[in-house]
Amino acid sequence: MIPYGRQSISEQDIVAVVDVLHSDYLTQGDKVPAFEQGLMDYTGARHAIAVNSATSALHLACLALGLSEGDRLWTTPNTFVASANCGRYCGAEVDFVDICPITYNLSCEALRAKLLLAAKQKKLPKVVVAVDFAGQPCDWAGLRKLADQYGFSLIEDASHAVGAKYQGEMVGNLSHADITIFSFHPVKIITSAEGGMLLTNKDELANHIRRLRSHGITRNSDEMTKTPDGPWYYQQIELGFNYRMTEMQGALGLSQLQRIDSFIRRRHQLAQRYDAKLTDLPIKLPYQHSSGYSAYHLYPIVLKDVSKRLEVFNTLRAAGIGVNVHYIPVHTQPYYRERGYRLGDYPEAEAYYAGTISLPLYPGLSDEQQDFVVETLKEALK
Ligand SMILES: *Cc1c(COP(=O)(O)O)cnc(C)c1O
Repeated sequence: MIPYGRQSISEQDIVAVVDVLHSDYLTQGDKVPAFEQGLMDYTGARHAIAVNSATSALHLACLALGLSEGDRLWTTPNTFVASANCGRYCGAEVDFVDICPITYNLSCEALRAKLLLAAKQKKLPKVVVAVDFAGQPCDWAGLRKLADQYGFSLIEDASHAVGAKYQGEMVGNLSHADITIFSFHPVKIITSAEGGMLLTNKDELANHIRRLRSHGITRNSDEMTKTPDGPWYYQQIELGFNYRMTEMQGALGLSQLQRIDSFIRRRHQLAQRYDAKLTDLPIKLPYQHSSGYSAYHLYPIVLKDVSKRLEVFNTLRAAGIGVNVHYIPVHTQPYYRERGYRLGDYPEAEAYYAGTISLPLYPGLSDEQQDFVVETLKEALK
């Protein structure tokens, strides 16, 4: 089976994890801070805070930005459910903004129109989560302008986009977002098995996120309500969680980070081979905006004849090609339907979903395997 995405694990990765197992610290040692420092150096972010998943990272980001009951979080329907669920964890209402039919990212025009209306109704969002879908950065300059104008915070869900660039700058350098989030799930760009990271340039946010990651506990006497009883003393000053990353995960992530540029180069090479070999077929290829450099997490094609999608998908799967679909529009999930959303609410996301198939794309995919995918797809489209 050729999967749609897969990790690339080297001997060096294995040694890094085994070394931790032989060491004194399986958690709360120096590997996680080293991984955090590695990502700060790589992206230029002032703070990086590792957690046990991107889902946890999104939850802490929302909490740190003050999202709570009575507030609203807006996101794109073309994402994994976690980008929306983080709002619900905080008791906020979740609403959606339709996508741009070219990049499949949250549409700035749709956002502007929705904000105009929401301002009149006094129902503006507190937080907007925009997703760099497939690894391609959103229109961050446009999003920042609207955030400043309407006073909401911006979370960049860059789960697909570690190593991507926007206007020549690394995703995660926080030139536009308040907090950027990475995922290290094995299908993503680099992996720590499970794992996620929050990046921010704001000291106060970073301090709060670190505290929330570990039970809401502080060991800083300046934050305590009284002088410490002794060197052992700590205080829990709010309700936090245990969202910590283990040392094995930190070591794996740091080891993977050493190879990130070669991973992304190979993804680009493969994407260009698809681009060249899939011309003249009745499909739409992924558009690459000139302002960005994608991390190419996904290669989503869209069939012009959507009635053929299921059959083409099944033919590829039957040939041992693990194609997938990204994403079922979040508002059509039963959980969100129960909260009032319906089919037809976000027509661009729904139209895209109706025709899309994600082709295999990962650094270990060989040219021969990719040629087999191309030939099988061509046959299936005949
Ligand atoms: C994978 C993913 C997540 C969740 O990541 P985990 O690390 O598995 O929690 C969130 N948002 C998007 C867009 C993703 O692709």
